[in-house]
Formats: sequence, C-alpha cells, structure tokens
Amino acid sequence: MNSQTADKRGLLVVLTGPSGVGKNSIIEALRADDPSLFHSVSMTTRDPRKGETDGVSYHFASKERFQALVDAGEILEFDMYCGAYYGTPKAPITEKTEHGTDVLLDLTVKGALEIKKNDPGAVLIFVAAPSEKALRDRLLARGTESPERIEQRLNTARDELNQIQYFDYLVVNNNVEEARADIQAIIRAEKRRITRLFVDGSEPDSV
Ligand code: 5GP
Repeated sequence: MNSQTADKRGLLVVLTGPSGVGKNSIIEALRADDPSLFHSVSMTTRDPRKGETDGVSYHFASKERFQALVDAGEILEFDMYCGAYYGTPKAPITEKTEHGTDVLLDLTVKGALEIKKNDPGAVLIFVAAPSEKALRDRLLARGTESPERIEQRLNTARDELNQIQYFDYLVVNNNVEEARADIQAIIRAEKRRITRLFVDGSEPDSV
C-alpha cells in the first residue's frame, strides 16, 4: 500500500538582493538549464529602462492601475522601492505552483517576507555581491541610473542586508555559473525535505 503523500506543489523560490547584484542573469542561467522553471513577471510603476519590453521585463503600469489591482486582491505581495511600486500578479503563481511547476521570484526583502508569511514552504535566498565596491561598479557600468539613484539603491541595499537573518540561504554572486549551481543545489535539497515528502504525517514506503 502506498502510504507516502508527497507535496506535489511547485516550489516558490524567492531571490532577494541589492539592485545590480545580477539576479536577472542568475535567473536567465537557471532557466537556460531548466526551461520548465517559471519566472514571474512583476508589475511596476517605474518607467521602462532602455531595452526593457512590456510584458517581458515587467508589466509597466500607472499608479492607478496598480492600486486597482491591489484593491481587487490580484497582487500577491507588493512593495514601494525607490519611489515606485513593484508587485507580483497572483493568478499565474497559483496556477503554476498548483500544477507542480517551480516558480522563481525576484523580490525586495519586504516582498520575500510577505511570501514566506503566506507560504512557509517558500524558499528565501539572499543574493549578495562580493563587496559594496563590486556592487557600485556594476551599477555604474550598467549606466541605467543617475549617480543619485545609485546612492539611493546602495543605501537600500545596506538596509536589506541588515535583514538577512530572515532568509534561508545566502548565495554570493562571484560569478553567474557558481551562483546558478548553488541555487540548483538548494532547490534539489529543498525537494528532499522530509516535511515535503511526507505531508499529513504519511510514512515512507521504502526502508
Ligand atoms: P529594478 O528597478 O532594478 O528592476 O528592481 C528594483 C527592485 O525591485 C529589485 O530589488 C527587485 O528585486 C524588486 N522587485 C522586482 N519585482 C518585484 C515585485 O514584484 N515585488 C517586490 N516586492 N519587489 C520586486
């Protein structure tokens, strides 16, 4: 008799870390290796950067539309970051996880903690830069923000780092391939958690 009841829902894997740390490159590398991973496209009220496409990088929206979706309960979590709103549309996440698809989210600390509160099985990974200098250099090289905005983002990064104790894992992005391998290892380990394999107090079949 099969007494084993595994949790078949997809994992919610949240990547949080300072602006410019390379979360997008890591997500691209993860998806290149495993295209079944779903990356949630967030909604934001900030202006698109050069090269960003609506519906791919973000769903770009006015403050009014964003607020209307929050009021309608269609946003899973949201945060205000450097003067703009960012939020996760709820429907695609529910649909994917219920069908067993693992979902990658790229969120602020507040967003990550909100996700964990609603779903304690969510896995929170903090992605850090090797040093503040490396982060500043990356933001400067990206050339998408003014010097004032870069300072604002670095200040936010320091605040976020102070909340690292609420996260499950730390990955330092020395290079994308290593960070990708670390996160793949985390996902593999998380799927073997006893609490995920035997839900409802069921027992293992094998000895
Ligand atoms: P950026 O403007 O650089 O694209 O993103 C700024 C910050 O917003 C990043 O730290 C990113 O992780 C965060 N972010 C992006 N989408 C969301 C979201 O849907 N919710 C929350 N809480 N943060 C998000």
